Amino acid sequence: MGKRMLEGKSIEEWLEDHPLLNEIMLEKEVFWGNPHYGGKSSGSTLTIEDVTVASERLNRFAPYFSKAFPETKGNKGIIESPLVHIPAMQHKMEQKFDIRISGSVLVKCDSHLPISGSIKARGGIYEVLKLAEHLAARHGLIEQAETYASFDSETFRNVFNQYSIAVGSTGNLGLSIGIIGAKLGFNVTVHMSADAKQWKKELLRKKGVQVIEYTSDYSKAVEEGRRQAFSNPSCHFIDDEKSSDLFLGYSTAASRLKKQLDALKIAVDEDHPLFVYLPCGVGGAPGGITFGLKMQFGENVHCFFAEPTQSPCFLIGQMTGLQDKVSVQDFDLNNSTEADGLAVGRPSSFVGNAVRHLLSGCFTIDDVRLFSFLKDLADSENMHMEPSALAGFYGPIQLIGHSAGQNYLRKHNLQDTIKNARHIIWGTGGSMVPKEIMESYYQKGRNFDI
Ligand SMILES: *Cc1c(COP(=O)(O)O)cnc(C)c1O
Repeated sequence: MGKRMLEGKSIEEWLEDHPLLNEIMLEKEVFWGNPHYGGKSSGSTLTIEDVTVASERLNRFAPYFSKAFPETKGNKGIIESPLVHIPAMQHKMEQKFDIRISGSVLVKCDSHLPISGSIKARGGIYEVLKLAEHLAARHGLIEQAETYASFDSETFRNVFNQYSIAVGSTGNLGLSIGIIGAKLGFNVTVHMSADAKQWKKELLRKKGVQVIEYTSDYSKAVEEGRRQAFSNPSCHFIDDEKSSDLFLGYSTAASRLKKQLDALKIAVDEDHPLFVYLPCGVGGAPGGITFGLKMQFGENVHCFFAEPTQSPCFLIGQMTGLQDKVSVQDFDLNNSTEADGLAVGRPSSFVGNAVRHLLSGCFTIDDVRLFSFLKDLADSENMHMEPSALAGFYGPIQLIGHSAGQNYLRKHNLQDTIKNARHIIWGTGGSMVPKEIMESYYQKGRNFDI
């Protein structure tokens, strides 16, 4: 029998060059420090000006959100989430894993972002707004409008109704694009992978969104969506694997976070490092946020991506340097995880290149542990998140408890300053999960309390 080849090397040779792959193939939880971290700047042409332009666009739309989504009124039409200390959960984690987490732990509650209840309310909504603004300008609507509140009007909807939007998704991206797209008047089609939860599909259909279901995984749903959209010139395809607009939408989180840290009187500098743990699927959301954070805080912020043991596509893409030329299936993993938001077998190479030198590392987490954190967070802080959103909680534990994490701290002279560290765990989704489903997650956490 011939050897299985991957980009000119046999699987055995890849395993020899990157021994960690052996553990990954055994579905073990791993921690990987990025050897390319801190190298010269990235493989992306995006700049800080691009991030500023994106922030300004979101600000222009604030009057629209205040009108069309009254839940955003309290925050003046800006879609943002709380940043909160979680001392009780920190204590619980320390007890459970018998370690001390130097510094303090906070959670960024993107689980409770308005409109679509996940991190996708950043990138996804941003790309639709950019499209809407572009089309409105082309139809001469913007010069007539007094404020952007007019985007919530029959006149605008009648124009957007002539256009369609398509997207491939494991669930949450479809949810955010579907909700904002339909509200503006677009015809939206969401191509959902097999992992997508039934309630997300039903919710979208209720809002008049066309949902097409696939029995295959995310990459296939995207591919098919892309193919269908390209045959229609008035259709805009939102490409989760390649979109710089999505990426920039996510990146605007950084300057917002800076303000929240200032308000909490939390400094980020050489003596006060900031560690951020971001659940990762295709890479766009954690990548965009990392890109923004590195511009904001430079070498004083350390960003780690979290993936399920069954879907470590970003880790494998980075470690091998193969980016989207490798999938988790190439290493005999099946990409089956309860963390639907992270069920991605092949990473974005656009993002992979953009964060090649910005990413501190990646780690993986077993599905069972996601549920166990879910329960602990509910018990200790009364916070409820979906399984994907719990992946980051393993970050501080692995960074401090794992030898590879300790290596990272040593290599970057952080052993001393880590006592002043802040650890931000990015809680990426959950507030829209129906109550009875959240309850079943919680019960699962009780049954498998590890
Ligand atoms: C999409 C998603 C992520 C990861 O974002 P990617 O852009 O796919 O890397 C993390 N958590 C949740 C809940 C998500 O929906």
